[in-house]
Amino acid sequence: MQFREAASRLFRFVLDFGLPARCGGCGTIVDDVDSFCGGCWKELDFLQGGCSICGLPLEATDAEVCGACLARPPRLDRIRAAVAYGEISRSIALRLKYGRKVGLARTMSRYMRPLLGELPAEAILVPVPLHRSRLWRRGFNQSVLVARELSKRTGVPVAADALQRVRATPPLKGLNMRQRRRTVAGAFRPNRNVDLRGRTIILVDDVMTTGSTANACARILKRAGAERVDLVSWARVIRPVRADA
Ligand SMILES: [Zn+2]
Ligand SMILES: [Zn+2]
Repeated sequence: MQFREAASRLFRFVLDFGLPARCGGCGTIVDDVDSFCGGCWKELDFLQGGCSICGLPLEATDAEVCGACLARPPRLDRIRAAVAYGEISRSIALRLKYGRKVGLARTMSRYMRPLLGELPAEAILVPVPLHRSRLWRRGFNQSVLVARELSKRTGVPVAADALQRVRATPPLKGLNMRQRRRTVAGAFRPNRNVDLRGRTIILVDDVMTTGSTANACARILKRAGAERVDLVSWARVIRPVRADA
């Protein structure tokens, strides 16, 4: 065991210092670690500003909160993503999900960190959990890898077991907002052994689609006493505003 640990540490050392830094998007050699080459950088759509709650672009320039959030405030207090979901951001998310490339989690966290701002002392990072069956098949939860890297950058602890997924949910693709809400309702449960009262919780996910999963998590966490629940993800699907959103 000790030998294995030492070997894995050495391996990581070689990866970190022995090899040149590579672009997270295409693998070309770059000057800076956890960064992108010029071509990939131009392709990535870094998200900025927008509604102070949901982060989507605002129509009225003097408003802070968008019409949709005013009409129906989401359970999440703040939603932020580093980049729009596109070819490169998707490929990075997929390579992390199926290839367990921790370096990619580190790259993602670099661009997610500035979205968190100042964090209160009682904040915790909570990765959106996978159901046991999926975790068993894949062996790891990609959001936990990202949360751990964010923790290294912020000093905020990860509470990977604060939230449990008690029901496996079918893919939400193709479902409308109401169907999504219904599908994920009751899928999560707070861990009774973790005291969530008064906590600021940063939910961590790799890709956010409509936010219905994260909203279901937020509802459960607030019922368990959480003061505030924010969501930070690597990529976010940006669609034109729809009537049913
Ligand atoms: Zn590149
Ligand atoms: Zn909004």
